[in-house]
Order: sequence, then structure tokens, then C-alpha cells
Amino acid sequence: MPQIDVLYIHPLGKNPAFSRKYFKKAGKTAAEHCFGFIPMGIIGVINNLIKHGLKVRGISLPLKKRINPSFSLEECLKFYNPKVILIDMHWYVQIKNGLETARQCKKIHGCKIIIGGMSATLFYEELLKISYIDYVLKGDAEKPLAELCSAILGNKPKNKIQNIASGNFDNEITYSCTDIDNYDYVNMGFLEDSEAYISMFDFWLMVGKGCPFNCEHCDGSHHKTKALFGRNSTIFRSPENVVKDLKSISAETVNFSLDLSLMPDELIERLSKEKFNSNLRNEFFHTADLCKLRKLKGSFPSFDFVFSPIAGNEDVRKKYGKPFSNKQFLDCLRRIEEEDYNGGIIVYFTDYVIYPEKAVKLDENARNEFIRKILEIVPYALVKVLPQVADPGTLKGRIPIKRLFRLYSA
Ligand code: SF4
Repeated sequence: MPQIDVLYIHPLGKNPAFSRKYFKKAGKTAAEHCFGFIPMGIIGVINNLIKHGLKVRGISLPLKKRINPSFSLEECLKFYNPKVILIDMHWYVQIKNGLETARQCKKIHGCKIIIGGMSATLFYEELLKISYIDYVLKGDAEKPLAELCSAILGNKPKNKIQNIASGNFDNEITYSCTDIDNYDYVNMGFLEDSEAYISMFDFWLMVGKGCPFNCEHCDGSHHKTKALFGRNSTIFRSPENVVKDLKSISAETVNFSLDLSLMPDELIERLSKEKFNSNLRNEFFHTADLCKLRKLKGSFPSFDFVFSPIAGNEDVRKKYGKPFSNKQFLDCLRRIEEEDYNGGIIVYFTDYVIYPEKAVKLDENARNEFIRKILEIVPYALVKVLPQVADPGTLKGRIPIKRLFRLYSA
């Protein structure tokens, strides 16, 4: 294998130390949380590098852990001999191991290390204090990463590239990806073991960016993405591109990046005219838009409908950012049942909302009573009760950033 330009590494995930006991209580050890999904945006980012003529390969360490436990990062670096290493630090669960991976890469190989993603954006100043991190890519990466990699490879100045910070300069987030139709968010040919990845996980398809809602604990909320990614509105890929993407995906199940209830009518109409091979799992951010759902009934072989009402008490639910009532939710389930979709219903509740300094226990009686009503309507529904960790960006301002970084990287 000739030397490659960029090696992308998706690190192992781990819940922060302050939260692990709650996951153990839920019957899951923190160690089980390998967080194998690659952030869906990175696929477009990497394919854009390839489009610009760069030789890029990618590895997912959680995937390696599952299918090749004897995998050696050192051997891998020797084999590919990359000029640049890119590590994603999108979700906070990747911070701890992302740092360790960056440290090892620098020690073994010594090339330039770039970190990017939502958590990297939030903590960029802390990350740049660490000697083995050379650049942090803040916000959307589609365009600036290609520019940064080309500048590194061509030994050209980097200090004018949007969204980039290093030990020597800090460029503000002035770029936000608005031309999502120009990127390929589907082809995973760059990833080692891509076939295993596609057969193991649902495929998360980038249909659009920018959730319009403001859930209390989510760094993907409208307020937070405005601050972290400079994005002001929800954007969607064109109907033609979404159809093309769906037709080229070989995974058994596809998830959309944004709830289908948010999709523009034009996109729903276009999808309704097609028949796709993959099943659709849609996460409804609130209750379902039944009209849009009905239009897609014949387009997918089966559906999984995923809801997250958080709490059984509707006032608590509203406080956390989901303003629908119990009645609205139960009516929605009833309608879905009546319309007899082929597939299943999954409902997630939260037992503890975990902050670094405390955990808030949500009312168990109200939850159990609500679950009972749900199961009366949909006896086969899969109901899961899990802890939820507050995303770190939602605590910014309340906890000093240095301490926040320490807590979420422990
Ligand atoms: S939890 Fe989901 S619906 Fe709520 S703000 Fe985050 S992405 Fe949007």
C-alpha cells in the first residue's frame, strides 16, 4: 500500500466517569458502550477529500474491536504511513478515547493530527492546549477540511482557512455547510471493513441538517447548533439526491438524520413515488406527522417508529423540550396502529437525567402508568428506559469550560 494522505480514525466511545454507575444500574456496563456509529456527516467530509484527489482511508476502532480484536494501531499506522490523521470527536463519548488515540498516533507516527466534530468545537481551546493536537476543525468540516489537508500536504499557509484553530491562530466559525447537495454522504468505500460496518449497523443517512427544536439537554438543538455550527435554519438535500442515496444504500435499515415529519412536502411527495429496498427506522422528534407518514407507507418494506417522550409526566416532558401531551402521544400511537404499518414501535424513556454534579430521577410511577397505557394500545411496543447524560454544551456557562472538559473527558 503506497503512502496515503489522510487516515481517518473513529475512536472508541466511553461514557464519562460521573455517569457510568447509572448505566450499570440500567443493566449495561459502561464498557459495552462502544458507540460504533460513525457520525454521518463525516462520510460527506471524507468523500470530499477523495473528490479533491487525496488518498484517504478510514478505520473505526469500535468496529475493529468487534471483528478483529488483535488489531494494532501501530501496525496500521506503519502500513498506511499517513501524512495527516483525522480523529472525530463529535459526541462527548468519544472525547476520552479520542484523546488517547491522538496521543498514541502522535507518539507512534508523529504526523499532523486534526480533531473535529461537535465536542471538539465546544472544547477547542482546551484541546489546543494539548501538545499532540495540531489543529481543531470547528463547526461544519466539508469545505475547510479539504482546504486544511491540501495546505498541510502542500506546505502552504493555513491561517486563513475558515473554522480552523491551531496553537498559532484561531479563525472564527464563518463557514456553515449550506450546499449539502454537493457532497456524497453514502459511499463508505474509504472505510476498512465497510461491508461489515454496513451489515452490522443501520445506515444513518444525511437527508438534512439542523434540528429546529430546543431540547434541554441536546447539543444538536437549534440554539446549540447555531452557536456551535453557525447554522440558522434547517436544510434538506434535494428530493432527487435523497432518492438516489436511498437507492444506493445496501444496509437493511436506514435512519434519516432528521425526522420525516420535518421534511418538506416536495421531498415526501418524491419519496412516495418510489419503492426502496431498505427498511426505514424514523426517530420522531415529537409526535408523528401522520399525513406524511401515510404517504410513505408503500415506499419502504417495513418501518420502525422510534419515539422519545422522556417522561410519563407531561409537565416534566415539556420542561425538557418535548411539548406534546400524553393524550396527543397516545392518540398518535392509536392512529399508527389503526393504519396497520408493517413494522415495530420503540419508545424510549429516561429514568435519570445525569449532570456531572447530580442526577435527577424522573417519576417512576408516572412513567409506569404511561407505559401501561402505551402497551394497551400497542402491546408489541418495545419500551426502553435508559439514563440520559446532559450534553456538555448545554452546561456551558453553568460550569467553567475547563472543568466541563475535565469532567467529560474522564
Ligand atoms: S433531542 Fe432530538 S429533537 Fe431534541 S433538540 Fe436534540 S436533535 Fe432535536
